[in-house]
Amino acid sequence: MHILVTGGAGYIGSHACKALAQAGFVPVVYDNLSTGWADAVRFGPLVQGDLMDRAALDGAFARYKPVAVMHFAALSLVGESMTNPAKYWRTNVNGSLNLIEATLAAGVKRFVFSSTCATYGDQDGVTLDEDTPQVPINAYGGSKRAIEMMLRDFERSDGLQSVIFRYFNVAGADPDGEVGEQHIPETHLIPLMLDAIDGKRPALTVFGSDYATPDGTCIRDYVHVCDLVDAHVLGLRWLQAGKGSRIFCLGSGQGFSVRDVIEASRAVTNRDVPIVQGARRAGDARSLVCGSTRAVQELGWQPARSTLNQMIGDALRWSRQKPFAK
Ligand code: UDP
Repeated sequence: MHILVTGGAGYIGSHACKALAQAGFVPVVYDNLSTGWADAVRFGPLVQGDLMDRAALDGAFARYKPVAVMHFAALSLVGESMTNPAKYWRTNVNGSLNLIEATLAAGVKRFVFSSTCATYGDQDGVTLDEDTPQVPINAYGGSKRAIEMMLRDFERSDGLQSVIFRYFNVAGADPDGEVGEQHIPETHLIPLMLDAIDGKRPALTVFGSDYATPDGTCIRDYVHVCDLVDAHVLGLRWLQAGKGSRIFCLGSGQGFSVRDVIEASRAVTNRDVPIVQGARRAGDARSLVCGSTRAVQELGWQPARSTLNQMIGDALRWSRQKPFAK
């Protein structure tokens, strides 16, 4: 059974492909390789194409006849989305619309979508669940919220069944070292911190120290990428069982400040983390913590690897290896 995996050459998508292959599916990666890596496509075929290229999408559906789509391909940097919103609306929203239309034209009705806790905005420190109102404060979150609404509309018009996952902060890497997180440029906290520890960059800049949190830095909920992709396989099975469209938050349920993550990295590596205090980053919410157990209760999901130590340890091993080449 083929699954079309857009963005399957990227960080989360490549881990999803491994999980799909282990579960007996054939992941067909559809990726324009703008940020993804051909080297990360190890578990099924690669179709190099853009979401805006309808003919290429139609060709991939015709050739592989996937039974479902997993849609990871997107731009996902909060900071960049604040300075270049057009890029986010065009790529994420227009690209997803094109993909959904191609999906329906091919007669496929099952769709798993990567959404984000950035759709919630700044919610005054409350824990977030599937019913929390979404009030995004950056263009990245806005674009993902728009796609969620699009999926609801296409369910009404065409019967498209979707599982929407709202990710919290994804971290870690495949413990076997087959795939991992490799971005150019890197902007995420844990890989930047590990590079600073290893002397590959002078220091980690901490964005803001005056948030209304116990230590003044932003709080996030970190979830291991392998746990996260396990939920996708469960979501696919949910759709195959005809259980209908559903939204699930994917987080560990625990919030950690930037300073907590620095401290954990110090403990895991037994090395100092060189840091520089910087200004707040535009678009950052003070606190984003998952307060939902729906995925655990309804999908049977177990985020067993989502401890800071395990995520940092797996990320560290990968960051010292990083084998993908353009
Ligand atoms: N962060 C930081 N320095 C960095 C990168 C990130 O202090 O160089 C902070 C950022 O402000 C946020 C948290 O770390 O509070 C996680 O940021 P990341 O970019 O990893 O993920 P995001 O929350 O944007 O999805």
